[in-house]
Amino acid sequence: MTKYRAAGWLLFLAPMLAAGDAGEPCTDFYVYANAGWLAANPIPEGQSRWSPRIAGRAANRRRLQALLEESAARRGAPNGSPERLAGDVYASCMDEPRVDAAGTKPLAPLLAEIDTVRTKADVQRLMRRLHAMGVSIGFAAAGSPAYRDPSRFVLNVAAGSFGVPAAAGERDAYRKHVAALLALGGAADGADAAGEVVALEARLAEGALDPAAAGDPAQTDHPTTFEQLSELAPSVDWAAYFDEAKLPRADVNVAEPRLLRQLDRSLRETSVAVWRAYLRFQLLEAAAPYLSRPFVDASPAKGKPRGELCVETTEALLGDAVGKLYVQRYFPPADRARIEAMIENLVATLKQDVAGVPWMAPETRKRALDKLATYDAQVAAPHFWRDDAGLAPQIQRESLWANVAAARRSSVDADRRRVGKPTDRNVWQLPASSSLAYIDPQLNQIVLPAGFLLVIGYRPDADDAELYGGIGVGIAHDLTHALDAGGADFDAQGRPARWWSDADRREFLVRAACVDEEYAAFEVEPGLHLDGKKVESEAVGDLGGVRLAYRALATALARRPEVVPAGVGAGTTAEQRFFLAFARSRAETLRPETEREVAKSDPHPPGRFRVLGTLVNMPEFQEAFACKTGAKMVRPPEKRCTVW
Ligand SMILES: [Zn+2]
Repeated sequence: MTKYRAAGWLLFLAPMLAAGDAGEPCTDFYVYANAGWLAANPIPEGQSRWSPRIAGRAANRRRLQALLEESAARRGAPNGSPERLAGDVYASCMDEPRVDAAGTKPLAPLLAEIDTVRTKADVQRLMRRLHAMGVSIGFAAAGSPAYRDPSRFVLNVAAGSFGVPAAAGERDAYRKHVAALLALGGAADGADAAGEVVALEARLAEGALDPAAAGDPAQTDHPTTFEQLSELAPSVDWAAYFDEAKLPRADVNVAEPRLLRQLDRSLRETSVAVWRAYLRFQLLEAAAPYLSRPFVDASPAKGKPRGELCVETTEALLGDAVGKLYVQRYFPPADRARIEAMIENLVATLKQDVAGVPWMAPETRKRALDKLATYDAQVAAPHFWRDDAGLAPQIQRESLWANVAAARRSSVDADRRRVGKPTDRNVWQLPASSSLAYIDPQLNQIVLPAGFLLVIGYRPDADDAELYGGIGVGIAHDLTHALDAGGADFDAQGRPARWWSDADRREFLVRAACVDEEYAAFEVEPGLHLDGKKVESEAVGDLGGVRLAYRALATALARRPEVVPAGVGAGTTAEQRFFLAFARSRAETLRPETEREVAKSDPHPPGRFRVLGTLVNMPEFQEAFACKTGAKMVRPPEKRCTVW
């Protein structure tokens, strides 16, 4: 067996390469490419899986923390500037002694107001107050693109945050949690009230859809007039709600009508005293991570290092301010332009592919090209930043909770102001610093925050081969989702419209079945196979992604012959570096029990199968590594799968 020889081209891997036995590229390319990483990266204690990407998230948090520490230390930044706002919020969070000493004092005015609740009208007044700071009692109302016409931004009424377990038998721990929080908040009768609070929330939650149905736009599409709201829930003072929120009395979708009927019933049938306790509990629950230690310990933030909590809090409250600082520091405009140029190239390649793909009817091809023409890829940072300077008078270092409340009110306000207007495609659902990315089928949009691009391994000094193999493949994979069996449900304007014919679907499924069959033969451990049907969409996306990115790389190299920095890629070709980068982008280790779970329930196959299952179908791979016919990494031509 040969050890890995191409050391040097990826300098950061070099020290680890000696550790693993890499084998031959044509036998197991996943191991060949990743042996060094695999040998040097056992799964850390307490983790169920590990990958460069997961490690990258921790590194991203450290980048953010360094930035926020600096902002907090520099007190002279102009009032209202992103640096000042983010620095002040972060400092107010890191000042634990002050937070601890304050106890419940920051909440005192609101708690006192809840104490004065005597009537159902009072209950609703407080509900409105809490909704205005994003505490969604009974229901949540937030802006969202309309299902049938995503160019319009409407108010979507859906389920709020219900912590109560669905099964009555499992509610004991939750009841204790409610009692503990009420007691911490100063309620003398916390334990008595807790049972009733849980019962009230359970009744409210009965009206909510299960998560799968709630996430399905087709099941939650109920455009509703203002008058109809009053028919659904006459006990709710909708006029006061809309007036106080400055919402237009139109452009409403009630995602879950049953939820509002249930709320109406509870408003009529449950006593003011129980509602009052529920308001107290909801406020304490929302505020707990930002109060003194006993509250933090009764919240999901329990055990989280303070720095981590404060980074997350600052990022969540001031996404645009933090994002702006982050991009200024870590993601220069040239990097953004480079990724944008690659995406343009990938889209052009997919257009060529669609023009020739044999399974689409001519009319369908036209619709697919329309969809690619409106495809909106946003890279690194939104085109416009929200200006949070108006928050400046309310942000100070003295009270974390006051900062949280002010920033949340401001976000809720900004969201409400957008209702009834055309959808603003530049408002992101994640900050630019985020480790995650998303696709929004309603906006025919992919959003790739700067943080995400760094987490998945973007490096300015990577050559095109590495860029296209390591990052382009994933983006091309997502591009195919806009046109595949799932993407076929939304048209170029993001409206629900099936633009495939039955024949297109049939032809697609025949080709996808080849991939199903291939993956169903993979064994996670003896006797446990992957579920071909479950992973079909992702595996087909991987196959399309690698092919498209490979072709796009060829175009890029033809346009601008590769200039490889000295010392990089010694002894490798661009094609080899492309495939190595792809295989490395999927490196991961899973504990056996996690891998078993993934095999059963995750539509994404474990990384090693994504690499092997894709590359065995590609003659380009065979050629790049001069693999012999009959090698493990080479499927016979008649068995190769092709979709895109
Ligand atoms: Zn996918």
